[in-house]
Amino acid sequence: MSGLFKGAYGDGAYTLPPLPYGYDALAPLYEEKTLRIHHDRHHAGYVRGLNSTLDKLEAARKSNDFGSIKALSRDLAFHGSGHVLHTLFWNSMSPDKPDVPDSLGEHLSKSFGSVDAARSQFAAATKAVEASGWGILAYEPIADRLLIFQAEKHQNLTMWGVVPLLVCDVWEHAYYLQYANNRGEWVDSFMKMANWPFAAACLEQARMHRA
Ligand code: MN
Repeated sequence: MSGLFKGAYGDGAYTLPPLPYGYDALAPLYEEKTLRIHHDRHHAGYVRGLNSTLDKLEAARKSNDFGSIKALSRDLAFHGSGHVLHTLFWNSMSPDKPDVPDSLGEHLSKSFGSVDAARSQFAAATKAVEASGWGILAYEPIADRLLIFQAEKHQNLTMWGVVPLLVCDVWEHAYYLQYANNRGEWVDSFMKMANWPFAAACLEQARMHRA
């Protein structure tokens, strides 16, 4: 998946990848101020947290002191998943508001009955996330099918081995500044910007690597 995560790692540490478009490119559906804070502050915080956790784990190994291993393991899952999901999230929106490519459309229809049914389930699942989390369209390689998940926080309620393809952030920091408590409106806006060609590219790559 390295090509799809360009800029997310470098020089021996995780890094904040630049947005694939300008800060104002998604307005008015996603306004510059919200996007800028979300990317520059929140995503950067997860990158810092992830690198810091790895440093602390290295120190624990060197001193053979694993007294904090439970908290550090939790931090690794939290910040690591936060970094992965935010990196995907910026790519999950496009200023071009593209259609669903035929290749992805076929897989959506096979897994969910129709493209519209997949879109409806994704939006409903995302709006109904309890507290802070994500709506996630993912590829499941065992059955070679697509599934839709609700993640709580960043790391909870997944299925091991799935590859996320399209993700929508419904933490309050993702939308509150612009949409206040109207999470449903935010998700409806996200669906208008959804970058289906990116999801199709992720799917193609994941299927190539299928065991
Ligand atoms: Mn976020």
